Amino acid sequence: MIKGEIFMQDREKPFSIAIDGPSGAGKSTMAKMLARELGFLYVDTGALYRTIGYAVLQRGADPSDQAAVEALLPSLTIRLEQQEDGQHVFLNNVDVNDCIRTPEVSMAASRVSALPAVRQFLLDIQRNTAKSVSIIMDGRDIGTVVLPDASLKVFLTASAEIRAQRRYQELIEKGAAVTYEEVLRDMRQRDYQDSHRELAPLKEAEDAVRVDSSAMTLEEAVEAVRRLMDSRRSRSDAVRKA
Ligand code: C5P
Repeated sequence: MIKGEIFMQDREKPFSIAIDGPSGAGKSTMAKMLARELGFLYVDTGALYRTIGYAVLQRGADPSDQAAVEALLPSLTIRLEQQEDGQHVFLNNVDVNDCIRTPEVSMAASRVSALPAVRQFLLDIQRNTAKSVSIIMDGRDIGTVVLPDASLKVFLTASAEIRAQRRYQELIEKGAAVTYEEVLRDMRQRDYQDSHRELAPLKEAEDAVRVDSSAMTLEEAVEAVRRLMDSRRSRSDAVRKA
């Protein structure tokens, strides 16, 4: 039996883990590792915002133009599908997984994510996914807005320089022509936009556990969260037995 099923059987509600934090903190790597180990579903919510950013750029619209983006939303059908190699996102039935990871789409995603109509549009998709299965979701507002009752909330962060260095390495390995300075500049701009928008800004939930991975390897950060999960689990087992 996979470990995820234990949580499903023990609780009325499926177990949910929210991992929030700024770009490049290692959220998706951490979430994927934990999801594989626990047998949970992993949902990368950034991919949803990226897909809207991508669609807006594809139609030649300005991602900050509220009216233009709102007018586009009814023509978009976004679907998440779990495949053997992980989550794939479909835009109007076309797999766009490989098109949404460019620096241009990152910036467009950050801009459209400030628009209330976009956040509302994606909220239902995210909440519906978490209704019936044990899940790990990563994003910016999972612990504060999408899953305020999550069983465990983690705020994963690291210094901007370290996050930019990690992201730069990833992009270079994919063959992208970028410099470290460009990546750092974009990261700072996205940090600013994501944490200063009016609606659902990037911020730590009051009941989140903060993990700063600046001086840790990702494996060490995952181990820290695994220990937290174990202690939550034994605490709730003790409450149930009492
Ligand atoms: O996590 P990722 O870098 O893929 O997210 C892309 C953008 O989508 C972020 O910069 C952020 O503006 C937005 N986002 C969000 N809320 C989430 C996930 C992502 O606003 N839950």
